[in-house]
Amino acid sequence: MKTIDHLISGESVPATSGRTSPVFDPATGEQTAELGLASVDDVDAAIAAAASAFEDWRDVSIAKRTKMMFAFRELVDRNGDEIAKRLTAEHGKVLDDARGEVARGLENIEYACGLAELLKGSYSSSASTGVDVYSVREPLGVVAGITPFNFPAMVPLWMIPNAIACGNTFVLKPSERDPSAPRFVAELFHEAGFPDGVLNVLNGDKVAVDRLLEHPDVKAASFVGSTPIAHYVYETGTRNRKRIQALGGAKNHMLVLPDADVDLAADSAVSAAYGSAGERCLSFSGVGAVGGVADPLVDAIKVRMEKLTIGPGSDPDSEMGPLITREHRDRVAGYVGAGADAGAAVVVDGRDREFDGDGFFLGVTLLDHVTTDMSVYTDEIFGPVLCVVRADSYAEGAQLIKDNQWGNGAAIFTRDGGAARRFQADADAGMVGINVPIPVPVGYHSFGGWKDSLFGDTTMYGPEGVHFFTRGKVLTSRWPDPSGSRVDLGFPRND
Ligand code: NAD
Repeated sequence: MKTIDHLISGESVPATSGRTSPVFDPATGEQTAELGLASVDDVDAAIAAAASAFEDWRDVSIAKRTKMMFAFRELVDRNGDEIAKRLTAEHGKVLDDARGEVARGLENIEYACGLAELLKGSYSSSASTGVDVYSVREPLGVVAGITPFNFPAMVPLWMIPNAIACGNTFVLKPSERDPSAPRFVAELFHEAGFPDGVLNVLNGDKVAVDRLLEHPDVKAASFVGSTPIAHYVYETGTRNRKRIQALGGAKNHMLVLPDADVDLAADSAVSAAYGSAGERCLSFSGVGAVGGVADPLVDAIKVRMEKLTIGPGSDPDSEMGPLITREHRDRVAGYVGAGADAGAAVVVDGRDREFDGDGFFLGVTLLDHVTTDMSVYTDEIFGPVLCVVRADSYAEGAQLIKDNQWGNGAAIFTRDGGAARRFQADADAGMVGINVPIPVPVGYHSFGGWKDSLFGDTTMYGPEGVHFFTRGKVLTSRWPDPSGSRVDLGFPRND
């Protein structure tokens, strides 16, 4: 059985805890690797490597850093298919979706290639007589990234390019479920010429995360995962005086108004609910169907669901792959049962779909007449289950989004510009789509939700990412003629 080690200071280093975690191919159910989990000593070694690398890295010129970032961009682009294969083999998503994940990660590297512009600072000449004032942003030091299973390459790339372009060194703790893609991306990073220790990959679980959050040399941590862990990471990290951004779970809603194009709305609902088997933080698991649109919309969604091809992600014909683990598949199926028992109308039951072999497959489910007290509605399911809640009016539909625990994404489908404009203001979410089902911001904007979808003040990547991974310093300087110097105990005034 293949074992997967840490990557510390450019070297493959075995875990010393004696604890391991199995890695599966979700399409077959077979274990394909054994992941060594970090001990506290392993975490300390990775942090020490990053701390030592920081001493030199912070002073490497912008010109050299930019060249390396461009080289990294080229390597990730050239190896996109190889990264995608690793994603599919351990996550299960279909290859085309995996390639899309790589493309989105590339956007973040491209943004960081502009570090010369991003780190320019600002200068005020003669702010006072003979006095100049300028603002710069400096790196924090060693920073950590803790990432989820569902985007094993893209989410680390939300963090690493900006953090390292800004002069920090990095310890990545990827998900235990699918560690090979982030590990391969880190190898490409070294191939691009970045010095050893600038990026380290540490495999581990709670032991590793807790140590990263308490170690005095870690200055900030960027986290993406489920809401309970995001909250825990935020509270633990900030208690230890670290800068933390912790993105949590979601339950995204799509509001469909009576005037919407039903075909467009149905195509969008199916794509956003069942893409990547619903294991996306911007999946749309709730549809608020307003007024008379509900019946035709449910029919149109059902027709499309029946045509979906579900199978191994490596099969080019598959549109949806398996779920990440057997336990998660069974949990999702349990929610479908709970929804049916609570009185939801089961339009399509994913549990009825049979699959050959031991892969972690589940068919797609559509529940209608869902009410807001059902667990299938209140909980984040993170699987291929779409709930339709019927609303009598726009106001009732918009209220669903306001009342929701999470506020990652929300979308409206309508032909009415006035309603869309009103929705833009009403939507209680950080990322809003207007006739767009998955409103993932491009790499030069920033990504993050509201309410229980984000703990912390800054969102991820883009301008807010640069802000998160740097701290400001304002310098005030003068070069007076020494002959004019005198003692003055008054408070400095600008004149
Ligand atoms: P998870 O919370 O189980 O794990 C995320 C990370 O936290 C992993 O690296 C894991 O090792 C670590 N972790 C798990 N348990 C821990 C504990 N008790 N203490 C400390 N660390 C722990 O999440 P997941 O199942 O890997 O990912 C799916 C979740 O991530 C979903 O809830 C999804 O909505 C969310 N997500 C959110 C976004 C976003 O941008 N808001 C993006 C992607 C995924």
